Amino acid sequence: MISKKVREEIAQKISQNKTRPPTLATIMVGEDPDSLVYFKSQQKACTQVGILPKPVQLSETSTQKEVIHMVHMLNHDPEVDGIIMQMPLPKHLQKEEIIQEISWKKDVDCMTSINMGFLFMGNPYMVPNTPLSVMTMLAEYNIDLTGKEVVVIGRSNVVGKPLSMLLLGENATVTICHSKTKNLPSVSKKADIVVAAIGRAEMIDETFIKEGAIVIDVGINYENGKIKGDVNQEKVMNIASYLTPVPGGIGSLTTTLLLQNTIKAFENNH
Ligand code: NDP
Repeated sequence: MISKKVREEIAQKISQNKTRPPTLATIMVGEDPDSLVYFKSQQKACTQVGILPKPVQLSETSTQKEVIHMVHMLNHDPEVDGIIMQMPLPKHLQKEEIIQEISWKKDVDCMTSINMGFLFMGNPYMVPNTPLSVMTMLAEYNIDLTGKEVVVIGRSNVVGKPLSMLLLGENATVTICHSKTKNLPSVSKKADIVVAAIGRAEMIDETFIKEGAIVIDVGINYENGKIKGDVNQEKVMNIASYLTPVPGGIGSLTTTLLLQNTIKAFENNH
């Protein structure tokens, strides 16, 4: 529902624009089948709201220099607003070096150190889609974060760390947990809000959750052909006051928020 609302807002903004359409370039190196599916669904989502997708397919054997050259071409192309580097990259390529070559102004996935730095300084230019999805969900349900005890389980650069900074920016008291955290259930049980971004199917059960807590399940795990979250939905459902579903919760918003970031880059490009 939130996703539909945001997409309608984006489509309306674009329909009022009198210049060229916002353009999102996605570089894909090789033909990883899962990435191809995502690549295509992303292009469809772009087209539906009026964003022009610009797929750039490079061969599996492309060199580091060739991929970086393509990034530079897109950086300098005035008709391109956003650039995404589709992961995973073939093993012979150095992912970190390539990502840092993307112009921060076109970095709609918020992968560059510059954009991450802005975010950590409390003044983000772009916000990565998954943390933004969590913040959008909390805002949509009018959850005031001021003074709330929030436990974020997971400290990755993609989810846990940037999300913790965004929560801090909203005056939450944030505890970041990880695989070396001692007595995790007792730490987590003190929280008003628990965010699970772990990558372990159904690890979080009722022993981790305080009665009435809000539980945000970021996890996407594939098990026996099914998608499962990091939270055992059955065991937590009756304790939590609010629990995001998997599939259909946080994950359902991320593509939409990528489109929103593209519009932001387009507006800043004009
Ligand atoms: P990473 O593997 O990069 O990070 C996982 C984090 O969880 C690490 O910090 C790790 O700790 C911690 N962890 C692992 N095992 C345990 C444990 N037993 N107890 C406590 N902490 C643990 O994953 P991501 O951050 O990229 O993704 C997390 C989850 O979110 C995955 O399920 C992923 O599929 C999903 N995801 C969902 C998205 C969406 O759109 N909904 C988008 C991106 C990710 P340590 O640092 O010590 O190793």
